[in-house]
Amino acid sequence: MRADPRTDTSAHLFAEASAVIPGGVNSPVRAFNAVGGTPRFITKAAGCWLTDADDNRYVDLVCSWGPMILGHAHPAVVEAVQRAAADGLSFGAPTPSESELAGEIIDRVAAVERIRLVNSGTEATMSAIRLARGFTGRAKIVKFSGCYHGHSDALLADAGSGVATLGLPSSPGVTGAATADTIVLPYNDIDAVEAVFAEFGPEIACVITEAAAGNMGTVPPLPGFNAGLRRVTAEHGALLISDEVMTGFRVSRSGWYGLDPVDADLFAFGKVMSGGLPAAAFGGRAEVMERLAPLGPVYQAGTLSGNPVAMAAGLATLRAADDAVYATLDQNADRLAGLLTGALTEASVAHRISRAGNMLSVFFGETPVVDFASARATETWRFPPFFHALLSAGVYPPCSAFEAWFVSTALDDDAFDRIAAALPAAARAAAAASRPA
Ligand SMILES: *Cc1c(COP(=O)(O)O)cnc(C)c1O
Repeated sequence: MRADPRTDTSAHLFAEASAVIPGGVNSPVRAFNAVGGTPRFITKAAGCWLTDADDNRYVDLVCSWGPMILGHAHPAVVEAVQRAAADGLSFGAPTPSESELAGEIIDRVAAVERIRLVNSGTEATMSAIRLARGFTGRAKIVKFSGCYHGHSDALLADAGSGVATLGLPSSPGVTGAATADTIVLPYNDIDAVEAVFAEFGPEIACVITEAAAGNMGTVPPLPGFNAGLRRVTAEHGALLISDEVMTGFRVSRSGWYGLDPVDADLFAFGKVMSGGLPAAAFGGRAEVMERLAPLGPVYQAGTLSGNPVAMAAGLATLRAADDAVYATLDQNADRLAGLLTGALTEASVAHRISRAGNMLSVFFGETPVVDFASARATETWRFPPFFHALLSAGVYPPCSAFEAWFVSTALDDDAFDRIAAALPAAARAAAAASRPA
């Protein structure tokens, strides 16, 4: 049995970070609150391997929460970034690479005619909602419980208990006014959508949905759900916003749209499209997008938007992401799912591997997961010991039961051997976990 890896340096760095950064992290999930223990400070990565500050190596099954489909430090991407950086970092003026990346996205997603580049997925969805409200002249928006669209105020809303149609702030600092026009419904429930449109139809600007949910764990839309959203929104003159920040250019060449081609009015992209640097985008029908400033009255802007180094990383990533890459991602996801289910079955742990293309999650227990309530009803207490057994054996899974696992093309036989070797003990740890009192 291997000894647990040393984590002294990470622990020391975490203490130092906690003295200057709230919670020691710049995005909460990184603090390991859902699983406990010391977050690993990563110092470098290549291919599918992460190296931490104590020189431990891990097979990466997070991929920066999605972007790194080609693995880390891919030579073509690094070279493109270095070349762009040598020519200057930011100009505050248009550059040729912005239209190249916009063109690449438009070429891949037939329903997108115009693209506006921004800096994060949060900005993309926030701006798409402003545009939908500006275009329709309506105030209310519909979102689904468990779908995450970044941390802008109007989207940090939970359903009020008992009253599915009342959006309550889900964070202090978000005012009731900011979420008063946000209606929160259960995911995958088209009847609830129909009912809310029957009541508020003329006031609803848009429905925003994750193209396939990945932020309550991986929960795919039921067959016909996205098409149903398209039908209901169109009947009532509301827009449909498909948030492909996670799925876009990951689950296929054209994202979830390539697997389930529903023509939303607006799409949000991020993660893969900028290859690991901070850039994102929203886009859609020209008629809607041309309401944006400077052509139209809906204001939206960004000092660093379309940054040339980020554009270079995104272009190099998308240009490398051909059909063979997507076939490999699918094969790697199948192989990972097979190993997970094999080890958990061997250890008699009831579980389901939930898939949305090459994204997947492990839900413990027998309950089928179709929405946030059923995801929360799973045996999530089995996850922390499962996670830590994998981590201490050199496999880095997502640090929460409510996150997706992400594969890259860089996973090779060595990596899968490491995963296969780590899983039996992890499955036994999941089996031995006991329900909290
Ligand atoms: C990650 C994510 C966002 C937010 O993107 P950031 O770049 O973190 O602001 C929005 N929507 C979905 C579906 C995401 O997965």
